[in-house]
Amino acid sequence: MKIVRYPHPILSYKSKPVRRIDQGLRDIAAEMLELMYQAQGVGLAANQVGLPYQLLVMNPTGDPEQREEEYVFINPVIQKRGGGLTDFEEGCLSFPDLRLMIARPETVAFQAIGLDGRPASYSWKGLKARIIQHETDHLHGQCFYQRAKFSGELQARPVLESLAAEFDSDRRRGFVPGDAELAAEIAELEKKYC
Ligand code: ZN
Repeated sequence: MKIVRYPHPILSYKSKPVRRIDQGLRDIAAEMLELMYQAQGVGLAANQVGLPYQLLVMNPTGDPEQREEEYVFINPVIQKRGGGLTDFEEGCLSFPDLRLMIARPETVAFQAIGLDGRPASYSWKGLKARIIQHETDHLHGQCFYQRAKFSGELQARPVLESLAAEFDSDRRRGFVPGDAELAAEIAELEKKYC
């Protein structure tokens, strides 16, 4: 498992809901958390590791010692956003070296299923609310730079261009499969849990 970078096509893929939870899925979530900590992130969506599932992991402290702050959410649905828009500088593990000011609602109410298979409701504000919005966007195929203001888009452009050049070169050297092969891989992965 490794974190894919922009513009890998799975980052714009709309993930499918998970229909089955088993030890394999629990192992995937645990591995995602470890990768997230190694990369010094606070959240990671399954499509960022090449898996087309509505699954995300997060820990607002980013600290592997604080396991009580860890969350694994399956099929999250944001039901309400409120509290007004707040600006905050975000980063993303699929966009190394890019930090952008993004405006998001301060509070969210959402439902999600835990690894125990039980649905639960949450009302969050501040950093946790921001992380869940950023990661849920990923599951819908949306990345943070797409929410940046025009000035942020301008700031992002050179970084996006250099990431795109790196990705093209990786693909030419065969490190990333072509679109048809990727689509077949995704269909195969979906058969397992969706
Ligand atoms: Zn991200």
